Amino acid sequence: MQEEILKLIELQKIDLEILKIERDLQKIPQSLQKVQKEQEQMSKKLELLITNLDEKKSQKKFFEEELQEEYQRLKRTQARLMQIKGTREYQLLLKEMEEIKRTNKQKEDEILKLMEEIENLEKEKEKLEKKLEEINAVFKEEEQKFNEFCQKLLKQKEELMEKRTKLTQKISQNLLKKYEAVRQKKSGIGIAPVINSICEGCHMAIPPQLYNELQRDNRYYECPHCKRLIYYKKIYCPEEGEDGSLEAHTQSVKK
Ligand SMILES: [Zn+2]
Repeated sequence: MQEEILKLIELQKIDLEILKIERDLQKIPQSLQKVQKEQEQMSKKLELLITNLDEKKSQKKFFEEELQEEYQRLKRTQARLMQIKGTREYQLLLKEMEEIKRTNKQKEDEILKLMEEIENLEKEKEKLEKKLEEINAVFKEEEQKFNEFCQKLLKQKEELMEKRTKLTQKISQNLLKKYEAVRQKKSGIGIAPVINSICEGCHMAIPPQLYNELQRDNRYYECPHCKRLIYYKKIYCPEEGEDGSLEAHTQSVKK
């Protein structure tokens, strides 16, 4: 058994744990995503409602001003009516007044309708604001949970990094360089076990000659297919079955 291979196997385990932590840190949990979406939808709904409400309000104000002018006009017409002598002119003015009154009535009805709509919208607005407040509270809670989770992960990562540094000091520079180079290129795995001629890094068979040599374990070997460093699994991890922990790790990392 080669001491440095043992160290590399340990290093590989640490590196996979670090990789998993880094991925978990980037994954916003579904619970948070869901409430975030709800928050966006509710804000949008409320925004639309407020726009609608503002429009109704300004429309109402416009009608009210118009109506005020019409009331004044009615007053002036009424005053003129008092000074008129000719019957025909009198009739015309009466007709004009009727007309003003009729359109005023329409405007008054319009205003009443708007007032009712505004009242309903105000009620709806209050409801939405309350809902949004509730959603915001849940969001804050979920966000805090996620932040705490991230803090925990970061602490774990820090500990692993320390362990890693200590470990790498015990491995020769050349071997470490080789491991790092392959690990960067090959989804985080720089060293892989071989069992039954199969490299567990790439799941391909290595040549029989190499497999025989590998079992003698007297130098460093690499897989001719994936270029990862390889070792004979039965020597280094005799306790692990044929679907060892590296395989499980690889699966979770690849997702
Ligand atoms: Zn391979």
